[in-house]
Amino acid sequence: MVITRKLKYDTPRLAMGGIDIGMSKEVKILGLTIDAGLTFNSHVAGACKKAIAIYKHLARSARVSWGLHPEVVRSIYTAVVEPIVLYAASAWAPAVNKLGIRKQLNVVQRGFAQKLCRAHRTVSLHSALLLAGILPLDLRVREAASLYEAKRGLPHSALGDRDIETMTSAMDFPHPAEQTTVEFGSLVDEEQYNNHAFNYDVRIFTDGSKIEGKVGAALSLWDSATEIKSKKLVLPSYCTVYQAELLALQRAAGEALKSEKTTFGIFSDSMAALQTVANPTSPHPLAVETRNALRHCASQNKRVSLFWIKAHAGLEGNERADYLAKEAALRSKRRIRMDTISEWDARYKSGDTASITKIFFPSAAAAYSTVRKIETSSITTQLFTGHGGFSEYLYRFKLRGNPSCLCDPAVEETVPHVIFACPVYARARHEVEQRLEGEKFSPEDIHEHMKKAKTRNIVLDFCKHVISQVIAKNKT
Ligand SMILES: [Zn+2]
Repeated sequence: MVITRKLKYDTPRLAMGGIDIGMSKEVKILGLTIDAGLTFNSHVAGACKKAIAIYKHLARSARVSWGLHPEVVRSIYTAVVEPIVLYAASAWAPAVNKLGIRKQLNVVQRGFAQKLCRAHRTVSLHSALLLAGILPLDLRVREAASLYEAKRGLPHSALGDRDIETMTSAMDFPHPAEQTTVEFGSLVDEEQYNNHAFNYDVRIFTDGSKIEGKVGAALSLWDSATEIKSKKLVLPSYCTVYQAELLALQRAAGEALKSEKTTFGIFSDSMAALQTVANPTSPHPLAVETRNALRHCASQNKRVSLFWIKAHAGLEGNERADYLAKEAALRSKRRIRMDTISEWDARYKSGDTASITKIFFPSAAAAYSTVRKIETSSITTQLFTGHGGFSEYLYRFKLRGNPSCLCDPAVEETVPHVIFACPVYARARHEVEQRLEGEKFSPEDIHEHMKKAKTRNIVLDFCKHVISQVIAKNKT
């Protein structure tokens, strides 16, 4: 295979033992099909073919009204189908910008999404995805690629630069006469801590953390028994916990410098970081900055004391800093997921399909957390999509002579009509309004009711009741 940017090139002729070796247009390495043009078309086609084969097996045993439970389909989708498609995503992710690739992914996803929410096959992809509570596959491909890059420490640099480890030149050190000796005490148990800690106006706890390749640091500021301030810092994933601990110490010294109070206790559970700060000749830039801040504090007549405390000794402030640092570490992963959801949200909102679904769920981002709390059934999906046993729908697909509702031959029987307007259900609707205790029941505010557990159940009970009756009526 030849990979080149040139439009014109001579195909090399290779021979081994007098026998010509032919050129191939693509090669498969470790399960990734690489083609000469790096389009990855045939790789995606292959992955989709595999996924669709699984779908075909499932389709026979997961019909709309019977068969496999949607949760089983969900497990198969997330554990088998997504991994097949997302395989080596970081290599071919840019290809999802092509319409052809996206269409193939949509075909795979549409079938599963429809099975997941027991929807009719005519339901749009946007509605099906939203009700199934799954994210568009092309966005998942990009997400998988970003996660991989974040793990490798490529972009997403919250702290920005790799200067963190550039040692400070000795030329920049303060004059020996100005060098302050920094000392730190050790508090080995709660009793020692209690004897010291409350001598200070402000106690600052610092911590650093690394989870799943993500690095975070945090500080938590306390005034007697309450936390007055906290800070979370995300570090690039190539950083170490030691660097995170040092960064937290540097920020803690900065907080002391900014504060209007006069006495400060800074508590860290990292002996290594404290020793680096205390050593007047250590050139680590964060240690140098920490010492500078401490020197400025001293010149302002502030008293700042550093302490080593045992990790996980049950000290409230330390536990809190530990928790915050872990949260900060996990934030970069969550941020990537939030990017995916907000892109899905924009795509859903601007799409011209899913008009009935949008009455109940105008935002895909909000719906992503709510739909899981609603038990999916064929009835709820017909309600949320309008695709089902309603005269207007049946007429559209030539399954019924007219689109009218029972109440008036001139009015179409649609979901918004039967739920919000049809006089046949006026009494039950009136009861709903009473149970909502003054909150309005209309197409404009039903999405608000869907967000809260209490009103959601009231509204859904009514809707399911009405929809079941309509569907039953149209079956005869
Ligand atoms: Zn009606």
